[in-house]
Amino acid sequence: MPKIYISPSNQTANICKYGDTECQHCNLFADYLCEYLMVNNIEYKRAEILETLESRVKKSNAYKPDIHYCIHTNAGGGARSVLFGYSTTDSKWKKLADCIKEERSKIYKSEIRYTKKTSFYEIKNTSAKCMYDEVLFHDNEREAIFFHQNVKELAKGTAKAFCNYFGISFNDPDAAAPNELEKIRKRLEAANDIITKIKILAEPV
Ligand SMILES: [Zn+2]
Repeated sequence: MPKIYISPSNQTANICKYGDTECQHCNLFADYLCEYLMVNNIEYKRAEILETLESRVKKSNAYKPDIHYCIHTNAGGGARSVLFGYSTTDSKWKKLADCIKEERSKIYKSEIRYTKKTSFYEIKNTSAKCMYDEVLFHDNEREAIFFHQNVKELAKGTAKAFCNYFGISFNDPDAAAPNELEKIRKRLEAANDIITKIKILAEPV
């Protein structure tokens, strides 16, 4: 079973234009992401909300995941996604970045950039390949609103990207709802048929 270590931002001082913090909304993203991973049988371990980066790296390295995934949002007023990696030409990292880009670009219409960064603590110190995702900019009002309005879809896109990366066909729990409704409707129809038959039988001859 594939394994991912999930490391959402612990930056409580970074204020989002929507009113919360980078730490809060990255954990919201992680909540949705973990639900989709669970449904798709991808094992994960998630960092505690305020856990230090040192502790996360230690736990990730002990867990030995296939991917160490960091969830962040950027500052500086821009409008783009940036995927940071130790090497953007590494074939596995690039494959995963391409999977994320493919799914995210269906929802998010700004640029999705790949950037080499060897200095970030988690990128530098995790044994697993690290995908450090700056989803968009939390200090750009339009981006912040977009994030909060689409956080579930953005997380779902990332879960799909992981499935594509691992060669798993994505099981969409949201798509199961109409099927359930359809089953209930059929059961009601069958029940009505029985009631009609009973009524016919009960009618005086
Ligand atoms: Zn926010």
